[in-house]
Amino acid sequence: MRDCIFCRIVAGEIPSDEVYEDECYYAFRDINPKAPVHILVITKEHIGGVAEMEGHEELLGGLVTTGVKLAEELGITDAGYRMVINQGADGGQSVPHVHLHVLGGRPLSWPPG
Ligand code: AMP
Repeated sequence: MRDCIFCRIVAGEIPSDEVYEDECYYAFRDINPKAPVHILVITKEHIGGVAEMEGHEELLGGLVTTGVKLAEELGITDAGYRMVINQGADGGQSVPHVHLHVLGGRPLSWPPG
């Protein structure tokens, strides 16, 4: 999608600190990290949010398993880590292109703010 910042990152039009890429997914470091490890895993296909993933269950499952694989590769699995998908304004979603946050490298408090 032309005006979507994450689509533009996938297209290479906006630089990003790439962590992983395959046919369906792209992962990169969050520009404003909330933990020592904070990456975003996104679908290459433009989907506005997790609420729009009905019919894309396989793609949604792959988004999560890609996050798990990258958490292992980034060395944050022993202590544990967190995955987050924000949805909508109250959910804290600021970019309307579905993305999985993978955070680790420090203890993370609960509940979130
Ligand atoms: P959310 O608030 O859940 O929609 O998450 C969007 C995330 O994208 C935020 O954590 C931002 O810091 C991050 N972000 C926005 N623009 C960029 C960018 N150009 N490169 C990397 N991360 C970005």
